[in-house]
Amino acid sequence: MTSLPVIPISPKAPAGDAPSRRASMPPRHLADLDLAGRAALATELGEPAFRAKQLSTHYFGRLVRDPERMTDLPAATRGRLAEAMLPTLLTPVREQSCDDGATRKALWRLHDGSLVESVLMGYPDRVTVCISSQAGCGMACPFCATGQAGLTRNLSTAEILDQAVYLAGVAASGAVAGSPARLSHVVFMGMGEPLANYSRVVAAVRRLCAPAPEGLGLSQRHITVSTVGLVPAIRRLAGEDLSVTLALSLHAPDDDLRDELVPVNQRWKVAEVLDAAWDYADRTGRRVSIEYAMIKDVNDQPWRADLLGRLLAGRLAHVNLIPLNPTPGSRWDASPKPVEREFVRRLREAGVSTTVRDTRGREIDGACGQLAAAEVAM
Ligand code: SAH
Repeated sequence: MTSLPVIPISPKAPAGDAPSRRASMPPRHLADLDLAGRAALATELGEPAFRAKQLSTHYFGRLVRDPERMTDLPAATRGRLAEAMLPTLLTPVREQSCDDGATRKALWRLHDGSLVESVLMGYPDRVTVCISSQAGCGMACPFCATGQAGLTRNLSTAEILDQAVYLAGVAASGAVAGSPARLSHVVFMGMGEPLANYSRVVAAVRRLCAPAPEGLGLSQRHITVSTVGLVPAIRRLAGEDLSVTLALSLHAPDDDLRDELVPVNQRWKVAEVLDAAWDYADRTGRRVSIEYAMIKDVNDQPWRADLLGRLLAGRLAHVNLIPLNPTPGSRWDASPKPVEREFVRRLREAGVSTTVRDTRGREIDGACGQLAAAEVAM
């Protein structure tokens, strides 16, 4: 991890421009609709239906979000079409990068003043974006920065997608040296609990995977939806006929500790959430990713590794250990490396495939659990 340039994009931005008190949903955008819906909207506007496809090809096919650059649209109608189908959803507040530009975090202001963040991560063989599904989060996990401020509101399908389309455009411009130019992976691991915004998130997943110009044409297998463990929503997702990866933020193998670390556990216990995860694995054939932040002297004891190993042995599961990332005011630290290694060893001994996640973007507060979007003052 090296340089930390802060790239101001919107120097005139806030100054006293506090987020509005009443969060509200944004205007409709073409990304909220499927192609047929977009064509119907164009017709409603008194335009030929093919305009919908033209706009969609710019937006999803060429990653052009600015209507001014859509010069094949007649100037007379461009403004009206743009207002009705491509309203500005995300206003950049700032972008930060580290890892020599391979990790970039974008901070956005939404139309109602809410703030959200997204992260782009370039690797030699792939480009991944981590996107937000809600402004804030209502799940209140005490070790996660996003959980501390509570939930502001759900994002619309288009607000979710516009983050990916913007960052796909950044990648396509060749800005991430040493990585492919084409966005390949999307993880719903930014701000918010995706399964608490179920229908909009599922619509966004469908559009990420629909071929252009309906959507971005990504593979379903390259999409990961991460959840604290909303059991009914996991079961519903299993029935959607989508082969996306489910990531379950477990963090503790026992109810006593998980009740504290992931408060929703007070509603759905470890056994219930794992049952739902195995049902997801059975129905989709996809390996479930078990997320486990390693917190010093809290959840990293050898006996917890053994208990976790017993719960997961023989299941279609993979454990992703995440060294705890620092968050403001937190009383917790990451586990020491030898403790982490012993945890991994015990899980593997139990026959459970386990890796330690490479945590990207710590210096720009862009790593897991650090997205807080609190930095309005520039
Ligand atoms: N609400 C969803 C999506 C957020 S994903 C979920 O919880 O799964 C963010 C991931 O980072 C989750 O696994 C979360 O538990 C984890 N995380 C949160 N705070 C963290 C921190 N301080 N250090 C490491 N991982 C953290």
